[in-house]
Amino acid sequence: MYQKYNSPRVFFPRTISETLEMVERESNAVFWAGGTELSCRSMRKDLIDLPKTVISLCLVEELARASRSEYGLDIGAMMTFERLLRIGKSTLPTGLHETINSIGNLPLRNRATIGGHLALQTRIGDLHPLLELLDAKIEIRSPSRGGRKRSQIKKIPIMLLEEKNLLNSGELISKISIPTDNWDIAFHRRILPGNDENKVLIFTALASVEGGVLSECRMAFSDGCTGILRDREIEAHMTGQKLPLGYRELKILDEAIIELTAPWKTRSYDRKTSMACARDFLKRIEDNNINGMIL
Ligand SMILES: Cc1cc2nc3c(=O)[nH]c(=O)nc-3n(C[C@H](O)[C@H](O)[C@H](O)COP(=O)(O)OP(=O)(O)OC[C@H]3O[C@@H](n4cnc5c(N)ncnc54)[C@H](O)[C@@H]3O)c2cc1C
Repeated sequence: MYQKYNSPRVFFPRTISETLEMVERESNAVFWAGGTELSCRSMRKDLIDLPKTVISLCLVEELARASRSEYGLDIGAMMTFERLLRIGKSTLPTGLHETINSIGNLPLRNRATIGGHLALQTRIGDLHPLLELLDAKIEIRSPSRGGRKRSQIKKIPIMLLEEKNLLNSGELISKISIPTDNWDIAFHRRILPGNDENKVLIFTALASVEGGVLSECRMAFSDGCTGILRDREIEAHMTGQKLPLGYRELKILDEAIIELTAPWKTRSYDRKTSMACARDFLKRIEDNNINGMIL
């Protein structure tokens, strides 16, 4: 009979302002987007253990829109992966369609949202490195607190999201902005080196080619939990190299990757696989590079 006092309380705001007002009142509330990560925490299969206070974002229409702007593409945090796929491969920034398609399965993509994906505290999702390479920015809204009258809006490079305490509790990811890009080719690999699903290797890369020359190249390596590794020096070194890369250039690249992945010292398989992924990526560019044109 005391059940109702133990039952979770679920709020359904309709606007971003209402959401932030609720956060102000309910400081322990947890945002519920697609719920795919939150429902994984349930001990039983037939019941979802909800947190004590939940703010569901499912009725906040402002968060579920995507629009083109001068800057590029603005994606509301509540856009599900499947709705993003429906925007179409040619309209989405390079690599987004393929990477999203590789995440989970259709039922998962129907529920999982881009905002929930980026707010994951315990893992780095597949899309995160690509958004970093594409120079995406996220908009974060915080409730008014400590005497402030108005809620705060900040727009920051997605790269800073890697700092674990950047997104404080109660802060809402509202939008992801991706600048218009001119990349010719994107490459994404998610490798499970063993049976442990939490140990992954995510390799993501972008390149542009002009007249048989690598005109720009970016690469990111992640173990899916500790961070995203990038070496801007080697990216700059590869820029302007004629394709196919010669033995010396490939050796320089291998050495740079070994140095970059030094934090993974006990994971020699992952470090070797990182080198193989980078070479595979270059091979892919060369195979597509006929008469200096990317097909
Ligand atoms: C079966 C399964 C397979 C998966 N496979 C893959 C895979 O192949 N690759 C991969 O990268 N990932 C995979 N994932 C992880 C998946 O990408 C995430 O679970 C999903 O993106 C989270 O989105 P969501 O909308 O469901 O978030 P939720 O579960 O609703 O929320 C996740 C977290 O984010 C917070 N949050 C949600 N929205 C916001 C917001 N707008 N602002 C601030 N905080 C917010 C929530 O409070 C919660 O802490 C898989 C998950 C499952 C369950």
